[in-house]
Amino acid sequence: MRILVTNDDGIFAEGLKLLAAALEPIADVVVVAPDREQSASSHSLTLNHPLRMKRVREHWYAVDGTPTDCVNLAVQGLLKECPPDLVVSGINYGLNLGGDVTYSGTVSAAFEASMHHFPGIAFSQEIGEGASFSASAELAHDMVRVLIQGGLPKDLLLNVNFPAARPNGIEWTRLGKRTYRQTVVEKLDPKGRKYYWIAGTPEWEEESGTDYQALTSGFVTVTPLHLDLTDYAGLERSDKLRLQFDRLNVSHDASQSAEPSA
Ligand code: MN
Repeated sequence: MRILVTNDDGIFAEGLKLLAAALEPIADVVVVAPDREQSASSHSLTLNHPLRMKRVREHWYAVDGTPTDCVNLAVQGLLKECPPDLVVSGINYGLNLGGDVTYSGTVSAAFEASMHHFPGIAFSQEIGEGASFSASAELAHDMVRVLIQGGLPKDLLLNVNFPAARPNGIEWTRLGKRTYRQTVVEKLDPKGRKYYWIAGTPEWEEESGTDYQALTSGFVTVTPLHLDLTDYAGLERSDKLRLQFDRLNVSHDASQSAEPSA
C-alpha cells in the first residue's frame, strides 16, 4: 500500500506532518507538497513556467507549484513506476465546506487524483478552541484504514472536515450552501492608489444534511464528491430554452461569422 500525501498549506505545515506520520504505520507514505502556502489556489495547474521538485528528506519532496502540480508531478513522474493506491490531502488549516471546495487547493488535490483515476481524500480542520491536528490525524488514520479494508474504489473522492471540539461522531453529508457576505474592502496605498481586500464573514443556509449543519453540530463530516458538474435536473427542465436556441441560426453561414478560436 502506497499513499501520496499533499496539501495546500505548504510542506512545512503541521497538518501535513501529522497526517503523513499517522499514515506511516499502514502504508509507504510519499509526500509531494508545495514549497510554500498555496491556500485558495483552487485547481490551478502551472503551464507557463517550469516546475522544480526538491527532495527535502527521504520520501518528502517540495514543489514550487500548486497542489494540482504536486499530484501531477507525483503520479506522472516520481511515482510513475510505483503509483499510489490513494492520494490524501491535508490536514488543511481551516474548513472546506460547501462551495468553498471550488476555491480549495486541498480539495483540488483530491480532484486531481480523481482525474488520474486514483482514489482521493481531502482532510480539513476547523480552527478554534479545542482544535487538535493530532487527534484529527489519528482519526484520519482510522478512516483510511477502514477505507483500505473496503477495497478503495478508484472513483472514491471524499471531502472530510474535522470540528474543533471533540467530535460527536461521523456524518455523511452533502455540500452546504454559503449565502456569502463577501465584501470588497477598498483602501488607498501611500501613493494614493486604490487597493482591495476580499473579506467578509461567511453565512450559511441552515439546511439539514449539509456539511455545514453537521460540522456546526459537532460532527466530523464526510461528503462524497464527483467531478461531473453537469446539472442533470437542468438538462431535464431546459425545454423552453432548447426551443429558443434551436431558432438561433447556428449552422448557416458559419464560414462568414466564424471567429478565430481563442
Ligand atoms: Mn490551506
